[in-house]
Amino acid sequence: MALENMRTLLDAAREGGYAVGAFNIVDYATFRGVMEAAEEERSPVIIQTSASSTVKFYGYDALVGLARALAGNSPVPVALHLDHCKDMDMLKGTIDAGWTSVMIDASTYPFEENVAMTKTVVGWAHPKGVSVEGELGSIKGVEDEIKVEERDAVLADPQKAAEFVERTGIDALAPAIGTAHGLYKGTPDIDFERLKKIVSLVDVPVVIHGGTGLSDDTFRKLISLGAAKINISTQLKLAYMQAFEDFKKENPGKADPIKVQKAIVAAVKDVVKRFMRVFGSSGKA
Ligand SMILES: [Zn+2]
Repeated sequence: MALENMRTLLDAAREGGYAVGAFNIVDYATFRGVMEAAEEERSPVIIQTSASSTVKFYGYDALVGLARALAGNSPVPVALHLDHCKDMDMLKGTIDAGWTSVMIDASTYPFEENVAMTKTVVGWAHPKGVSVEGELGSIKGVEDEIKVEERDAVLADPQKAAEFVERTGIDALAPAIGTAHGLYKGTPDIDFERLKKIVSLVDVPVVIHGGTGLSDDTFRKLISLGAAKINISTQLKLAYMQAFEDFKKENPGKADPIKVQKAIVAAVKDVVKRFMRVFGSSGKA
């Protein structure tokens, strides 16, 4: 089937009580690993592309071409999603080029500006059937220290979240609830009550960023509270590098890039399949 709008996948997930994994791919091998996992698990999947690194490096046409080749005829539903973008030219460009979903991250701007920018992107996206994810609050990197007294200002306010969704017309909301990008040093301090409140106040699917390193129990709890999309990026990068290093160790002096790529496909596939089972999306496509 053709690439799908992300909203369709997430609405089904909400209804079915599971979450769809959004996996950041960086090249052909990682993309193929994610697709093989989705097809073997019969799972819907979101192929996520980082605005600041992957999309900038490849350009629009190369990535859309890859997506059409690897996912355009897949038996499982696939959405091609742009991750964390505040570059309005890139948002417009990817919507026009063939992405089926984009994330406008204007969360570093004041609320009114975030609303205005997000609304503009929704205006470009919806006539083309493209879904839009917005962010409220500030989802940090694990290396960003957040003082306890700052926490309330950094995390998403539930009432504001409801207003944000209502005024922007977005299809999915990424609220800051205490998860972070990168590798957690200790146990992440997630505000589950806040998530619960937000889910009860907004009528769109809710997205969890910073999925790498969360425990299976945490994932299940987040999903039971209503999380419908979970982002995984760092874990795939780690699997990628590990596969490369293992290959080198096991094949000293050998120069065989295609075998390395195959090892990366297999490593990524394993990691992704595991997440799909935990998220409950296996068997749902
Ligand atoms: Zn993120």
